[in-house]
Amino acid sequence: MTAPNAPSANRIDYLRISLIDRCNFQCVYCMPEGADLQYALREHWLTHDEILLLLREVFIPLGFTRFRLTGGEPLLRPGIVELVSAIARLPQTEDLALTTNGFRLKKLAQPLYDAGLSRINISLDSLNPDTFQKIIGKRGQSQWQDVWQGIQSAHRVGFSPLKLNVVVIPGINDHEVPDLAALTLDQEWHVRFIEFMPIGNSDLFDHKGWIDSETIRTQISEKWGLSKGQVKGNGPADVFRIPGAKGTLGFISQMSECFCDRCNRMRLSADGLLRPCLLNETGQIDLRTSLRSGTSLTTLRDQVGVLVNQKPEINFKMRESGATGAYSRTMSQIGG
Ligand code: SAM
Ligand code: SF4
Repeated sequence: MTAPNAPSANRIDYLRISLIDRCNFQCVYCMPEGADLQYALREHWLTHDEILLLLREVFIPLGFTRFRLTGGEPLLRPGIVELVSAIARLPQTEDLALTTNGFRLKKLAQPLYDAGLSRINISLDSLNPDTFQKIIGKRGQSQWQDVWQGIQSAHRVGFSPLKLNVVVIPGINDHEVPDLAALTLDQEWHVRFIEFMPIGNSDLFDHKGWIDSETIRTQISEKWGLSKGQVKGNGPADVFRIPGAKGTLGFISQMSECFCDRCNRMRLSADGLLRPCLLNETGQIDLRTSLRSGTSLTTLRDQVGVLVNQKPEINFKMRESGATGAYSRTMSQIGG
């Protein structure tokens, strides 16, 4: 029997793979205009062959079966459809998902679906094109329509559950919570409200603060009522449903509620750094350098295996420390 508060023995089988640390948007909370981001050199990105080799020879033999492609903006990665197809065809892949800003989805939704992508999360922080514009920065002129059409395309081709991610920022888009929640009334979509974290733009965080999930839930509940719900996926969201709604609502409360002890994910950055935790670089392994300098796959598998075994202890320590850690890279660099 496990002692109370002991490191939990979650099965660590979920890998988030960042394909690129760049983006065509500059969301105020993620990589704001003027931020001095050090992008990985393109030649340091893991190639498709390297990603597939690591999956086949290192991660899958260690029990990883569920993968999410992210970034930066993963749909900017050249050859994304081919990579999705290759990962989906690995016999051990049980689930292959992708997180995107949706801008290129209008064209890519069908090819990605046909290539075997199982699930998709699309960021949509506002239903108002002007507010959207303010959030994504001036490089994103008039792009709300593109994202909305991308969402419609993903819906049409059959991605289900279609998940929409909303980062709620006080004074910027918090007044839209009811409108965004209302998207679930007639659509079988899953709208997830994410607590703003001080990662990427801590100045904005200090200036605006953040809104906890409980406050958002209360706002929605006062309007419609809320009951517990369920949705397919690997995430830490608490799921609810507006009575009678076709879709569901998720609340990701990484600020107000530490879920380190349930964390089952590892993260591989575009430049090949494997980290066991979003906020903590403990034990990080530079797989690209090792791979390119000829370290054998057996050795790499052993090293990653050790880190996987250490993860419950790392999760436990994060929980005990209140989940404060090294924020030296943004979500877009780590792979959010
Ligand atoms: N570009 C894609 C997108 O926007 O969906 C994928 C990468 S993005 C880094 C992944 C997720 O991280 C998005 O849902 C985004 O809203 C979230 N994110 C980025 N910075 C955040 C922050 N400071 N607090 C909370 N969520 C954040
Ligand atoms: Fe780009 Fe996604 Fe970050 Fe927005 S949240 S800047 S879309 S990586």
